[in-house]
Amino acid sequence: MLEIKNLHARIAEDGTEIIRGLNLTVQPGEICAIMGPNGSGKSTLSYILSGRDDYEVTEGDILYNGESILDLNPAERAAKGIFLAFQYPVEIPGVATMQFLKVAMNEQRKARGEAELTTPEFIRRVKDASAKLQINPDMLKRPLNVGFSGGEKKRAEILQMALLEPKLCVLDETDSGLDIDALKIVADGVNALKSPDRAVIVITHYQRLLDYIVPDTVHVLYKGQIVKTGDKSLALELEANGYADIIGEAA
Ligand code: ADP
Ligand code: MG
Ligand code: MG
Repeated sequence: MLEIKNLHARIAEDGTEIIRGLNLTVQPGEICAIMGPNGSGKSTLSYILSGRDDYEVTEGDILYNGESILDLNPAERAAKGIFLAFQYPVEIPGVATMQFLKVAMNEQRKARGEAELTTPEFIRRVKDASAKLQINPDMLKRPLNVGFSGGEKKRAEILQMALLEPKLCVLDETDSGLDIDALKIVADGVNALKSPDRAVIVITHYQRLLDYIVPDTVHVLYKGQIVKTGDKSLALELEANGYADIIGEAA
């Protein structure tokens, strides 16, 4: 589903290289965890997958279902089913969450050649998905992310993901700022989306989330490269020993 080949990317503004020869393959149905110390390039990788233009790819390629997506803008990538749940969700004053969801869902449907949802059907889906994530309906009337707590922002990201039904989901540190109850609710939301034709990339600094969203593969990202790959036991090893050994081996 996703094949990243020898990817090099830099910050457009000042040319600093952040991703330095990264290789990664993700199969349909796979839950893939990317771990790594702060500053290793995890968020940068997620932005590059989503097509944010503050970064330039200088070498290598990103293939999605066999086709390069490098020339596609974020909207085109989203239309193809790529979704990013942000580490730091952006506040959008003046746009009610409900209105945002309606536009996002209908744009997605348009891109897939499907008819707009009727208002009752839209409301039914939003109510159903928010109830599962234990989101207070009053929150949906408020401007998107404005004044939301850290945990509410993360739940709002997963709500968007559940409603848009993407094929490739990238979750950037969705666990940060969540207490254990919220973590379980969010993990249940992600697990409910598991399907043979969908892949999830879970970016996390800590092993804790992976007790609830169990990964098929675990990769360690360090200085813009994948320096180690394993199964879920690698995450436990990192939890026990920290990143020092792996960083030492990589150096
Ligand atoms: P992680 O998510 O693994 O903590 P990031 O991808 O956020 O790491 O950052 C990787 C490195 O790139 C950090 O040193 C960060 O400061 C730097 N960086 C990323 N984006 C920018 C940017 N737009 N401007 C300046 N520095 C950036
Ligand atoms: Mg970080
Ligand atoms: Mg980050």
